[in-house]
Amino acid sequence: MILSPGATIGILGAGQLGRMLAMAALKLGLRTHIFAPEAAAPAYDAAAARTVAAFDDEAALARFAEAVDVVTFEFENVPTATVEFLAERVAVRPGVRALAQTQDRLTEKTFLRDLGLKTAPFAKVEDAGALVRAVAELGRPAILKTRRFGYDGKGQSLIREGSNVAAVHRTLGPAPMILEGFVAFEREVSVVAARSLEGEIVAYDLCENEHERHILARTRAPARVSPETAAEAKRIAGQVLEALEYVGVLAVELFVVRDRHGEGLIVNEVAPRVHNSGHWTIEGAQTSQFEQHVRAIAGWPLGASTRRGRAEMHNLIGEDAEEWRDILAQPDLSLHLYGKLEIRPDRKMGHVTRVFPETPSNG
Ligand code: AMP
Repeated sequence: MILSPGATIGILGAGQLGRMLAMAALKLGLRTHIFAPEAAAPAYDAAAARTVAAFDDEAALARFAEAVDVVTFEFENVPTATVEFLAERVAVRPGVRALAQTQDRLTEKTFLRDLGLKTAPFAKVEDAGALVRAVAELGRPAILKTRRFGYDGKGQSLIREGSNVAAVHRTLGPAPMILEGFVAFEREVSVVAARSLEGEIVAYDLCENEHERHILARTRAPARVSPETAAEAKRIAGQVLEALEYVGVLAVELFVVRDRHGEGLIVNEVAPRVHNSGHWTIEGAQTSQFEQHVRAIAGWPLGASTRRGRAEMHNLIGEDAEEWRDILAQPDLSLHLYGKLEIRPDRKMGHVTRVFPETPSNG
């Protein structure tokens, strides 16, 4: 199914990613219809229509499927049953497979390992006894994570020398978990890439991410890695896209490690959606990640990912957003606010991007 201008994209989820997807769709003459349980959320302002309903409300989902030409999602915790129900009625891109393989950390790590990609060592943790055995196997430090619903460091805990393993287990439980060996990484990077309906793949340059209190604080593109590492990251993203028969944009988060063989990459996780580390592409690349996703799910040709310079993106988290006036006063900064009415600590309120034009001699 290839969309014509004027067609409607259904988006599951109503956060800032949905908002920026809706804005990109508008640019291309497409409409959006948001489906989400929240009564107030950033994406609604940008969309032509909304359905406020639970993800298991089948009557509402059936009406939504009737009203749209294709469905996508802007966060990965949409229940797979919701996507399966919709997929019987309307094209869903990316499909249920991408969601199912990535929303559970154990399934995701197993999928990546089976592709021959390097991940942190990991073990399934079903109860406190299994955790004790897993810690003995993987050593300390290690990171205990809930298999599902983790984001921005929520649902994870570090097990150090001297940590009481049973107590750490209780703080996260009761939920299925995974233990990961600690990766002593040099930096964190991510690659945002897209695959079209016809199977064409376009990746953005590898970017580098700094987190503060487990939340993405800054992204810079390109990442400070060797050309070989940058190319390897794009190759990994391509491999993941192919394996999932993916249509749309995804992000692969990786750790850069250094050993006696030199620089290497370890895959941390895959986000089956547009990603915070790709926000720099709005001003910093020929085609933004949001437009790229819209093009892909519409069945349209992908755009060029060419960088327009060196880019830096800063998230505005909590009270950072109060600086909007000062940011506006700086001519080289581009301000994005997500329309969230209430400032809360750790809440992503907006972001700021700066692009430094590169001349061939300093590029
Ligand atoms: P995640 O939710 O898996 O992306 O983890 C959030 C953050 O925790 C990552 O961005 C890393 O900074 C850190 N982290 C996660 N897993 C590991 C690991 N196995 N070793 C070291 N740091 C990790």
